[in-house]
Amino acid sequence: MNHFQLPPYGHGFCPHCLTGFDLTDAEPTFAERLPHNDQLIYVLCSVCHPKFKSGGDQGRKAISDRCFINVKLSGKCPDGRIPGWALTSSLTLALNDYDLVLALENGHGLTREQYFSICSGSYAVTALPGGGAMICSDSPATPSRHQPHATDGSTSHVSRKDASTNKTHRPDGGQK
Ligand SMILES: [Zn+2]
Repeated sequence: MNHFQLPPYGHGFCPHCLTGFDLTDAEPTFAERLPHNDQLIYVLCSVCHPKFKSGGDQGRKAISDRCFINVKLSGKCPDGRIPGWALTSSLTLALNDYDLVLALENGHGLTREQYFSICSGSYAVTALPGGGAMICSDSPATPSRHQPHATDGSTSHVSRKDASTNKTHRPDGGQK
């Protein structure tokens, strides 16, 4: 994904109005259930988020529909560039101790196989001291992969985050 016109850390584009904004004080606006048992979490800017929250059923639907169109159908800004959407997932958020900035910056840190394997069952995420997280999952090993250590039908993964990355680290000095 080509990020552009955003400060280097902790920002994303509002999926509704396409404005870039600082995620530090943002919160999830709404979630969409995904077929593989995760939720896509949409984070809207400080203008659109309260509009959604006070919008009533019709207003909320109009806003979420616009987000779906922006992200899924076009996926680009009007000039054709692909923005760094302010989107994450439930699992990604849990792995980043429910910190939106870290979730957007770090992602889930899993391989594709690990991610879908974990989503296919139930899991618990435990935050570890120092910024990592441990996932305990009851999902069976991914069928297409040889996993010699998964002998009891359960898997666990440790997702390590760069210890130098935290929400107070702002290379641009916290520029808004
Ligand atoms: Zn917005």
